[in-house]
Amino acid sequence: MPRPIQATIDLPALQHNLARCRAAAPDARLWAVVKANAYGHGIERVYDALRGTDGFALLDLAEAQRLRQLGWRGPILLLEGVFEPRDLELCSRLSLWHAVHCEAQIDWLAAHKTQAPHRVFLKMNTGMNRLGFTPQRYRSAWARLSALPQVDEISHMAHFANADVEGGLAAPLQLFHTATHDLPGERSLSNSAALLRHGDQAPVRCDWVRAGIALYGSAPDHPAHRSAHWDLQPTMTLATRLLATQQLQAGDSVGYGARFTASAPMLIGIAACGYADGYPRHADNGTPVLVDGVRTRLVGRVSMDMLSVDLTPLLEAGLAPGLGSEVTLWGRAGNGTVLPIDDVAEGAGTVGYELMCAVAPRVPVVVDAI
Ligand SMILES: *Cc1c(COP(=O)(O)O)cnc(C)c1O
Repeated sequence: MPRPIQATIDLPALQHNLARCRAAAPDARLWAVVKANAYGHGIERVYDALRGTDGFALLDLAEAQRLRQLGWRGPILLLEGVFEPRDLELCSRLSLWHAVHCEAQIDWLAAHKTQAPHRVFLKMNTGMNRLGFTPQRYRSAWARLSALPQVDEISHMAHFANADVEGGLAAPLQLFHTATHDLPGERSLSNSAALLRHGDQAPVRCDWVRAGIALYGSAPDHPAHRSAHWDLQPTMTLATRLLATQQLQAGDSVGYGARFTASAPMLIGIAACGYADGYPRHADNGTPVLVDGVRTRLVGRVSMDMLSVDLTPLLEAGLAPGLGSEVTLWGRAGNGTVLPIDDVAEGAGTVGYELMCAVAPRVPVVVDAI
């Protein structure tokens, strides 16, 4: 028998979250962001649930190719543009739209031979300082692009560094508006946080919104808001079972480094999940876990294949946890109780994004179909 660990991808939940994102900006078209293999969910697995989108946005040309193989004929946007000149051939062949964030990408386009001019999204750096033209250089980049026969329509895009905090949009919006207000072309600004928090407000409301993490049921502005506040449903459940229980006495400790010591007699459970499955090793004592749908906590250090949980809350509820009891690391338990991935991420000092992307290849994945 294989180890009892399993990840479940919930397609109806993805559809629900897609509808939530649409409702937050009903007039905009929506890019479903599926980079990093759909945030760890698997592009092929989520495709049926997300095909109601207007387009898919990602970074990797191989992933774009997979979407075309699945039959997607609509828009695909490469958020970082091309990485070398010959990538443009694939863009022409698969009609991929691509970001243009630096002069070299314009040089490559100028030298590219194509029958079909490309649709590009010119990217402005409004303070994130990763990719894009500064507001000062943006208009000359636009002028250069506009003069190229290889380029069809030019849209404008920027990416917020602080969309999840109050007041995080004012400065970048001002820069963007000043540099682009009189230029033709569609606009795309919002990630999930900007979409959910301000999607219905001008000037955040744009032609295209780019929804990533919200599709996957994690609150983009946790802990200011929780996924339930935004009515998002978990799309990934990581679950396993108890392999053993241990009765501890006061003073007994648990696991490597004895990072947890019992202050009174207590029953703990040993679950078949460890950091080699993608569960974060740095998750702290107290990180929430569900056992048979009852919320309890991690105790002791996470090891490669196992972790330990406090069974006290189950005993207090009159339950009898033991070998084979269901353990939900995040997502939805069999009894319907939800453990938001954001709560687990918080216990591990990270974000839901990282946890969902990090589920290891050794974990079998099943899909709850539509
Ligand atoms: C990843 C990404 C997004 C989506 O961000 P979320 O926070 O997951 O919604 C949007 N735009 C760009 C450019 C990205 O790289």
